[in-house]
Amino acid sequence: MNFLLIPFTIVLFLSINEIRNFLLFRKSTFLYECCDIKFYRYKDKKDDDNAIAVTSIFFGNAIILLSDHVNDSVIYHEYGHLRQREEVYTALFLLGILFSIAFQSYPFLLPVLLLSFRFFFMHLERSADLYAYKVYNTRYEPKHPERPKNRIERLKAWLFDSHAPDWVRIKDEYYNERKNIIYLFLKDIL
Ligand SMILES: [Zn+2]
Repeated sequence: MNFLLIPFTIVLFLSINEIRNFLLFRKSTFLYECCDIKFYRYKDKKDDDNAIAVTSIFFGNAIILLSDHVNDSVIYHEYGHLRQREEVYTALFLLGILFSIAFQSYPFLLPVLLLSFRFFFMHLERSADLYAYKVYNTRYEPKHPERPKNRIERLKAWLFDSHAPDWVRIKDEYYNERKNIIYLFLKDIL
């Protein structure tokens, strides 16, 4: 195993994240700054009631709005993300180490590793929802609340969306801290 690949992979993952941040800022217009958070408006989006939180090493904390009328509940969710800087960077760092080891010596573990991180980032999304709920008493407003009867359809929603599916995000159980994201996933699928 080449140990030099470990720091290389860490830097690679951190750089991908910062390049994404840079590209987001390049496509956005600065609006105003409030409480150490810079607010931007993403130029290409006409009207999507959503926003992107950025915790960047170089650019600081920012929220990029994808519409002129972003709902307060969306902003409060993004406030939750801005508090996750340490978790995000620790995860990218760990992913860099484990990915380079698995890639070189245990490639069969790569899918398990990627899936674990997938769920970790989904856990962060859910933590942001819990933050908005606990601090501002707002819940996510669902766009597709009906739960598909087909298990494969539900599985696809879990695997390909960054957040838990809408029909899970509206449940009271989702806002109960003691139920973790794996439990919610298994309960929805089985
Ligand atoms: Zn989010």
